[in-house]
Order: sequence, then C-alpha cells, then structure tokens
Amino acid sequence: MIVVMKSDATREQVDKVLSTIKYFGYKSHIIQGVLRTVIGVIGDERGKPHHLESLRVLEGVENVVPILQPYKLASREIKPQNTAVKVGKVEIGNHKVVVMAGPCAVENEEQIIETAVAVKNAGASILRGGAYKPRTSPYAFQGLGEEGLKLLARARELTGLPVVTEILDSDDLEIIAEYSDMLQIGARNSQNYALLRRVGKSNKPILLKRGMSTTINEFLMAAEYILSEGNQNVVLCERGIRTFETATRNTFDLNAIPVLKEKTHLPVVADPSHGTGYWQYVIPMSLAAIAAGADGLIIEVHPKPETAMSDGVQSLKPSKFATLMEKAKPVANAVGRGF
Ligand code: PEP
Ligand code: MN
Repeated sequence: MIVVMKSDATREQVDKVLSTIKYFGYKSHIIQGVLRTVIGVIGDERGKPHHLESLRVLEGVENVVPILQPYKLASREIKPQNTAVKVGKVEIGNHKVVVMAGPCAVENEEQIIETAVAVKNAGASILRGGAYKPRTSPYAFQGLGEEGLKLLARARELTGLPVVTEILDSDDLEIIAEYSDMLQIGARNSQNYALLRRVGKSNKPILLKRGMSTTINEFLMAAEYILSEGNQNVVLCERGIRTFETATRNTFDLNAIPVLKEKTHLPVVADPSHGTGYWQYVIPMSLAAIAAGADGLIIEVHPKPETAMSDGVQSLKPSKFATLMEKAKPVANAVGRGF
C-alpha cells in the first residue's frame, strides 16, 4: 500500500508512520516529492485490511491506498514519474534515447578497442561486452573472465564510454563491479532470485534482461527482487521471447515496450540483436523499438562478424552500426525524443 502524507505533515508525523509500518512487519520506501511525502509500504499485506485502517488514522496522513499490482516498487502506482538511471555520466530514461553497443564477447584487445572507438564515433554512449558468457554449450567459448574485464576497463579509459557487462555468478560480483559501470543480468538468469537479491544489495546500476519465457508480469517481479533489496537503479531490457517461430532466433516482443512503459516507471531498452538473431533485421527493429517508446537500444557490433566467437550472425559491422545511428535520429525526433 501507499501512505500519502498531507502537504503540511511534520517530520515527527512521518516518523510515527514509519515506526508503525515497521511495527506491522513491513519495509518502507520513502518517496520525497516536491509537494508531499509518499511512503511505499512493502510486504505481504493480503488479509490484513486493519493495517491499512490503522495507518489511515495517524496524524499527518492524507490517504492510504492499496497497490493493486503484485510488483510494488516497480509500479507506476507508487511512482508515476519516469525514473532515470545514471550509468557513469549517462542517464537512461530521460528525453534522450541512449545507445549501448559493442561485441557479444570481449575476444582480445584489438577487437574491443577497435569496436569501442567505432561505436563511440558513431554516437553510442555506453560500451557493451561480455567477459563471462552464458553459452548453451559448455564447450563453446565462455569468455575471457577477469582478463576481459581489464580489456573493457582499458577501452573505457581510451574512449570515456562507461561499460556494461554480464554477471553470471554472485561470487564474481566484487571483481565485475570493480571494472564495470553497469551489471547485466542475462535472459538465462532473469529469474535467478538469489542473484537478483545479491545485485539488489550492490549500488551498481542493473540492466535486467527479460527471460526467454518470462511474462511481462514475471519480468517486473524479477525487477522487484532487485528493488526490494534497496537498489533502485534498474533498467529493463526486452530481448525477444521464445515462440513457435523459427525464422528468427527469438520473437522480438515489440508490444512489451509500451506495456512496460505503462506499468513501470523504470527505463526500458530494446535488444534487437538477440531479439531477431540476424543482423539484417537489427536496423528495422531498432527503429521500431524507438518508435514504440524505448529509452534506449543495446546493439551487438563486431569489426569482423564472420570470425566472431559468439553471436556473429546477429552482429553489425561498424559501418552498418553508423547507418543505424543515422536512421535512428529522425525516428527519435518524430516521437518527441532526442538522440
Ligand atoms: C548477451 O547480451 O550477449 C546475452 C547473452 O544476452 P541474453 O541474456 O539476452 O541472451
Ligand atoms: Mn550475444
């Protein structure tokens, strides 16, 4: 539920509400607005309508309203305004469409530096690259690990681009956090609740990808795991879902973008590289995602896709990526966004 304080409520009245919430066994989450304070009451309130009534009669309280959605902190019911998430100096969720780009996996120094420089010159503002790769086969390239993180940090040093990279295992959190600016939770770990809780305790921004079989509701509940641990810096990523269709690697769920934007205040970005699985479809689906209201894109780019150690088929060459950036500008402007 949400406790809406009166605009002239005193600090003592807010404190009394907070201690009552704690007494009932809930967590509270304060949202300080310009005009009034709103307190989110987080916990399982089913079957306890008397708690709502007890809070309603406290001094300084204007109203107490139940949150209808199962996800609370992620919901627009608790926070109607958009959230912007800061990654280095870049903000995702504001007026500007933010583009993250880079190879699926970091392979060597030359590859990551060449890609980082190319995507930066084309207008990307965050560098992506996997150092720990979740591969379907245990015999496939698993990523360079710590060496890959060091190369990403080197590319950041040279280009100034903040870095997003995937975390597969809670044990790697410390080392990955040391070298990167944003942690990616991949589709395969989208419902790994222990990992979600762990990154929820860190202060790094999180790029949470949608699982290949998760509904939008389950996706938002996954975000709720992170938010409920205290980390409010979550960016959602639509990356395609598994359907009966085999012409593409996944079915890129364009619907998810406006649906998520309606239900949550969190920024929403799109990954048409994994969403389609083929480079030819990446530009059209990127433009579609921006038109549908995405706050950003994450795009796989490789200097030589034909020799890439993972996801070469869906990777754009730097020249094609530059074309994407050129084509995206008027589309962003047409829907009232900057680029
Ligand atoms: C990736 O970003 O390279 C990746 C593995 O993505 P996903 O988790 O969406 O499959
Ligand atoms: Mn990939």
